[in-house]
Amino acid sequence: MSSSPLFKRVLLKVSGEALMGNQGFGIDVEVADRIAGDIKDAVDLGVQVAVVIGGGNIFRGVAVASKGGDRVTGDHMGMLATVINSLALRTSLIKKGVDAVVLSAIAMPQLCESFSQRKAMWNIEQGRVVIFAGGTGNPYFTTDSAAALRAAEIGADALFKGTQVDGIYTADPKKEPDAERFTSITHDEVIARGLSVMDVAAVALTRENHIPIVVFSIHERGGFSEILRGGGRSTLVTD
Ligand code: UDP
Repeated sequence: MSSSPLFKRVLLKVSGEALMGNQGFGIDVEVADRIAGDIKDAVDLGVQVAVVIGGGNIFRGVAVASKGGDRVTGDHMGMLATVINSLALRTSLIKKGVDAVVLSAIAMPQLCESFSQRKAMWNIEQGRVVIFAGGTGNPYFTTDSAAALRAAEIGADALFKGTQVDGIYTADPKKEPDAERFTSITHDEVIARGLSVMDVAAVALTRENHIPIVVFSIHERGGFSEILRGGGRSTLVTD
């Protein structure tokens, strides 16, 4: 394994579901602490880490829309859920002695700072972990798209997408035991094969900005830093 990390600045996307552990809803603080520990390991390697967290463990806009409600309001609720998760992760990082700040796409100054690209860059340069809350700030988007957008805005060298499994497979490995993991694949192939790793808009945005995506398991303690050191199991999505 390499002594210097593969990437200097990365954007880590963590789904809301990853935070709920086995609870089925909400936030398992022990899981948030574990993910914070993984981020600390990466910071200790000298990597600048920014994070986008989803909200699916609390609320998704489609839940309202699917029952005849207003999608926009539902998406606002989903974006608020990402703020709750971001505050939880910041708390876990601070407990571990990692300086972290939450920048929200939707202004709520009593709770956290508002997002601007300049503020994000300044905090990254100060050595802080920057957590981007509120998704893109717009309905009809996902936090995957927010991750791709923020990765481009901060000039990230890679977008790390933490998932339930350790990479992209030819089929769902939980349903089809013969499914094979790709070691690497192109953005174009991910879109053409309809591989459900991130939404198409997010993959297209990373492709346009030549940002590699590293798909890995968020559940493996130490997995994030191991990949940054050149080991571990993942799928690399490149041009
Ligand atoms: N959301 C949104 N705009 C965004 C990002 C998120 O409206 O830019 C809403 C949307 O309702 C979504 C919810 O927030 O369902 C939670 O985000 P997401 O589903 O991406 O979370 P994850 O699946 O990663 O936990």
